[in-house]
Amino acid sequence: MLSADLADPVPVLVAGGGPVGLATALELAHHGVRSLVVEPREEVSWLRPRAKTTSARTMELFRRWGLARVIRERAALPVAWSDEAVFATTLLGREITRFDRCFGLDLAGDDLVAEPGQQVPQPLVEQVLREAVEASPHAALLTGWRVTGMADGAEGVTVALAGPGGAVREIRAGYAVGGDGSRSVTRAHIGSRYEGANDSRPNFNVVFRAPGLAERVPHGPAVHYWVLNPAQPGLVGRLDLADTWWCIGQGVTQAAGEADPLGLVRNLVGADIEAEILATDPWTARMLLADRYARGRVFLAGDSAHQNPPWGGHGFNTGIGDAVNLGWKLAAVLNGWAPAALLDSYQAERRPVAEATIAEAARNMATLAPELADPRLAGDDAAFAAARPAVAAAVHRAKDGEFHSLDLVLGHTYAGSPIVTGTAGERLPHRWLGPGDSLYDHLGRGFTLVGDLTAPAAAEFAKAADEGGVPLDTFDIPGSKLALVRPDQHLAWRDGDGAVPRDVLRKAVGHP
Ligand SMILES: Cc1cc2nc3c(=O)[nH]c(=O)nc-3n(C[C@H](O)[C@H](O)[C@H](O)COP(=O)(O)OP(=O)(O)OC[C@H]3O[C@@H](n4cnc5c(N)ncnc54)[C@H](O)[C@@H]3O)c2cc1C
Repeated sequence: MLSADLADPVPVLVAGGGPVGLATALELAHHGVRSLVVEPREEVSWLRPRAKTTSARTMELFRRWGLARVIRERAALPVAWSDEAVFATTLLGREITRFDRCFGLDLAGDDLVAEPGQQVPQPLVEQVLREAVEASPHAALLTGWRVTGMADGAEGVTVALAGPGGAVREIRAGYAVGGDGSRSVTRAHIGSRYEGANDSRPNFNVVFRAPGLAERVPHGPAVHYWVLNPAQPGLVGRLDLADTWWCIGQGVTQAAGEADPLGLVRNLVGADIEAEILATDPWTARMLLADRYARGRVFLAGDSAHQNPPWGGHGFNTGIGDAVNLGWKLAAVLNGWAPAALLDSYQAERRPVAEATIAEAARNMATLAPELADPRLAGDDAAFAAARPAVAAAVHRAKDGEFHSLDLVLGHTYAGSPIVTGTAGERLPHRWLGPGDSLYDHLGRGFTLVGDLTAPAAAEFAKAADEGGVPLDTFDIPGSKLALVRPDQHLAWRDGDGAVPRDVLRKAVGHP
């Protein structure tokens, strides 16, 4: 049902209620801007647990909306349960090597981040985001409907929807955001095209239930068990601490996977276990980047704009970064304190991040389990012992960056963006002010001036913000250099970059 107050017109219509569309609505709501998310699926796809790695950065952004704790409490694998990835001949077989401190899961309490990463299946993240949208006074979710087309006007966008039983309707929106995934109607509407390539290798996911399997695993807790079995290379992992597991067969075609999913599971496990197949999902990796992210009042975010191989776990996390970047800018324009030109910086800032992410994920994909599965590993103890050191070394050479990618996850910068001054652009360095008391919790929803507020520039920023109607909070850190922090926790300016505060602030909100 469409509630009357969100029906028509709506400031922002979001096509697609996957993680990125929902996150866009939540960022808009964070700034008091109304939106409507249109999503065909009535329910999240519980048996299609694609993303499982929620990065430390995404968790920080969820913390901004008050959702990090909820996600952690509802995630079936507690973050303290494991931060390891094990490489073995099979799930029940011999260990080859392992990594620890994977995916930023070890960072609880570290000054580096306000939140460690979290292993949690994508459907649970989507469910929590759906509930937050539904609870928000500013956002609404319309399920059972899909966007079929858009028409641009000078004042807004008219969006055509199709719903149950052949129903159709139109909704007028100030802006439209396409969070509608890889086959995006929105991307087609703005005349944007994916550039790049598809990987040739097929992959086949299986979700299965196997009571008693966990007790037989000799490797202890791990978030990934990589299987270097020449007969069937791939990955296995737990979806919960009960009996539910996921696995990926690498190099397995849809036909082969569907013909014998239990055989695939047994090959990866390394024993003829009994297992109930709950779901299967064939997929191929893609390295695709939209040539443009926007036209007029219509924008792309998430998979509609970019797709990367899942190795390293970056896809949906990159999309959450898009949602926050675009969300605060749309809100700034709609709330009247930034010119529409601010929106031009969205593509300028986010497309290079996607480009770098695709390149890194493609590097991760260059060496997968089939390349590492030396046939001698499946031999007798002597053959295994002879092969193991070289394989372990190859694993560490090829895979370290996949499990330890904080430079990309936390370190991407918007330096060079049209709205950033001097050398700024990076995420505000985090620090704990006390137990559980993050510096980030003290930032405002608009801009925040952080540092020694007795510096002369502080008063000048306050005056400039007042004149420009720009929301500016302050947080005093005596003795620390001043920095201007944007709503997305990135630096717009830092003391020493030279420009005068009024010009810095005007630039930061998109004035030429
Ligand atoms: C095996 C695998 C493992 C992965 N692991 C990870 C990981 O560990 N970490 C990570 O970050 N990423 C991972 N990913 C990638 C991740 O799943 C995607 O990047 C993510 O789903 C993208 O989110 P999205 O909201 O942009 O798009 P989607 O999740 O595709 O959502 C798009 C939504 O739009 C809706 N829609 C489609 N058409 C329309 C329309 N016309 N009108 C309205 N709505 C429409 C769809 O129903 C859908 O809900 C993985 C992917 C795969 C295949």
